[in-house]
Amino acid sequence: MTASASAAVRDDAASGERKEAAFISLEGVNKWYGSFQVLTDVNLQVKAGERIVICGPSGSGKSTLIRCINRLETVQQGRITVDGIDLTDGGRNVEAVRREVGMVFQQFNLFPHLTVLENCTLAPVQSGRMNRQEAQDIALHFLTRVRIPDQANKYPSQLSGGQQQRVAIARALCMKPKVMLFDEPTSALDPEMVKEVLDTMVGLAEDGMTMLCVTHEMGFARSVADRVIFMADGRILEQAPPAQFFGQPQHEKTRNFLGQIL
Ligand code: ADP
Ligand code: MG
Repeated sequence: MTASASAAVRDDAASGERKEAAFISLEGVNKWYGSFQVLTDVNLQVKAGERIVICGPSGSGKSTLIRCINRLETVQQGRITVDGIDLTDGGRNVEAVRREVGMVFQQFNLFPHLTVLENCTLAPVQSGRMNRQEAQDIALHFLTRVRIPDQANKYPSQLSGGQQQRVAIARALCMKPKVMLFDEPTSALDPEMVKEVLDTMVGLAEDGMTMLCVTHEMGFARSVADRVIFMADGRILEQAPPAQFFGQPQHEKTRNFLGQIL
């Protein structure tokens, strides 16, 4: 190979990596609730397949940040893209991005009047992505994956919290998302149910899912995260791979926070 050809290959590789580097991109994001600035100068680039854990004190803007990534919240300044889809151009792409981004909330948010199976098939069928039979097959596949296929015909209230959260994860997966957002998915669970949900999330991570998880489960962060992000007062104060983040936290606020939760 000539020198210029090999340079071209490197360029291709580099540009391929740049594309990958910007699977999710937040640039110069500022957001206010009324006169209260909730996000300040947030810049974040997430590669496809990357696992990010976001932590920080209550009220620091973690939920707001990840809700911006599927446009449950809008921002006043800055640019957010997911897989090349611009979320900050007036809402034209909301449906497109919601197809790519699955979200799991602290409070499960299952429909109480629908069975587990119906919770899982509703969005795929209503959005026209699948017919009922396809949606049911896929729902059973993911319910099996989260190890509760036998609960398919029950209602959420008949399930434990951990089971309900696993249904919520299966339901999100039924839309075949490219990214999963988790907002404190284990915070509302009894302690004995935390592990079953974390194990499900570890499984997803091992399959290569791109994940952003707001969680204070630092064991999960250590073993799964490629990068841990610390937020305070609406800013990303620091971010580092777990060994560095936990071993040498740079910012005093990070050290205080870790001192409180570890
Ligand atoms: P975290 O998830 O880190 O606890 P949030 O993103 O939920 O933080 O909230 C950040 C700040 O924004 C908090 O002070 C909260 O009270 C405020 N806030 C959140 N949602 C709203 C809203 N819809 N309207 C006004 N203020 C809000
Ligand atoms: Mg929150």
